[in-house]
Amino acid sequence: MVSAKTLYDVIVIGGGPVGSQVAYRLAGMGYHIVVLERKTRLTDAACCTGIVSQECTTAFSIPDSVIYRWVNGAQLYSPSSKPLEIERTAPQVAILNRPAFNELWAEYAQTAGAEFLVGSEVRGIRKGENSVVIDVINRGNKIELQARVAVLTTGFGSQLVDGLGLGAAGDFVMGAQAEVETKADKVEVYFGNKIAPGFFAWLVPTVPGKALAGLLSRRHPPAYLRSFLARLSAEGKIVSADVPFTYGGVPLKPLPKTYGERLLVVGTAAGQVKPLTGGGIYFGLICADIAANTLHRCLGWDDLSNDKLAGYQRSWKRRLGRELRTGYLARRIYERLNDRQLDRIFGLMDSSGLIQELEDAGELSFDWHADVVSHIFSQRMFMTAMRSVKMPLNLRVRLRRDANT
Ligand SMILES: Cc1cc2nc3c(=O)[nH]c(=O)nc-3n(C[C@H](O)[C@H](O)[C@H](O)COP(=O)(O)OP(=O)(O)OC[C@H]3O[C@@H](n4cnc5c(N)ncnc54)[C@H](O)[C@@H]3O)c2cc1C
Repeated sequence: MVSAKTLYDVIVIGGGPVGSQVAYRLAGMGYHIVVLERKTRLTDAACCTGIVSQECTTAFSIPDSVIYRWVNGAQLYSPSSKPLEIERTAPQVAILNRPAFNELWAEYAQTAGAEFLVGSEVRGIRKGENSVVIDVINRGNKIELQARVAVLTTGFGSQLVDGLGLGAAGDFVMGAQAEVETKADKVEVYFGNKIAPGFFAWLVPTVPGKALAGLLSRRHPPAYLRSFLARLSAEGKIVSADVPFTYGGVPLKPLPKTYGERLLVVGTAAGQVKPLTGGGIYFGLICADIAANTLHRCLGWDDLSNDKLAGYQRSWKRRLGRELRTGYLARRIYERLNDRQLDRIFGLMDSSGLIQELEDAGELSFDWHADVVSHIFSQRMFMTAMRSVKMPLNLRVRLRRDANT
């Protein structure tokens, strides 16, 4: 029973998968944990397609009960609709049932001993005496809870994080998605500035007859999704384009600082997201474990100072820093390509056997893009194709440097 008189070890703010993972790990270590979630139902998941790699499902033992299906490959479409198929023999990614996954992860945390208070919106975080004080609106009532440390796992665009003085994620992209009726049974990914400026659109089958169609885009996601659905409908790939949309956002760069006095920020709230694809589940779960390990040490020392918690940022940067930096560099270069150049690169990838080469080199990972990017940058034909792309000097220098490493 959650009580205002209790001094919790850890208050986790946000009951998404990352918050539940932090709570699960720390409750399992014997700490007194409460998770505060503003939604009244944990199954009201974020706008998300739920694609995670096989590596992620293994690392975090994600059971089949929350997986819609496994996927071996995808059909990619260039801006001029040239298809490029990537197909592998073994399953590469799982499509998660996001509401069921959210619920299961919260259940794991509860079984380990964490308490959940749903319908609880955190409005403020203050310093107390040897504690952190959390101001909560719980179903219309103001309550105040205290803990030795707070972990923010509030997802994208949280005003709470903005108010902590840790800086801002610096760059982000918005998305829209809809559930559609379809006969398609292959994942399809569409590129091009007329489809999803700066990013891409997708049609991802979930259960028989249904799919998620969506996109991330630098501009007007609803307008681009409307025209994407109209195209799919005209091509007979979906039954109707007249479907309700959900909206969400993805940070493309991490927060400059992800810790403070009695405070950690983890997951999408911290910008721990793959900049090339917008995938945040796997990296968020990895960082949740790193946060739990750091907190276990600091709670043991009873030292939750800024300096001691800095170890969290050092650890997650050691694991993911290169990925996030290289992914963001590749993203900025991708965004400078016009449709003609994108088509040319598609053609080169197809004719040069690059995909096969990456596969053979074991570098075609769904999660770890830095090696793929370095491999592509080291290809003479790629660098030749890039000559016509207008880029600021700093990007050109980094591109050349990465190509030579
Ligand atoms: C269109 C789209 C498609 C995506 N597709 C994929 C994909 O295929 N694969 C992938 O890996 N990632 C994908 N993502 C990203 C993915 O959804 C997130 O990275 C993931 O949900 C992050 O989990 P989280 O626990 O950090 O945050 P969230 O899942 O967003 O959970 C945050 C929780 O905090 C709660 N909260 C927020 N503020 C407060 C507050 N003040 N008080 C209390 N509670 C609060 C929210 O209600 C929410 O439940 C996609 C994102 C978008 C926008």
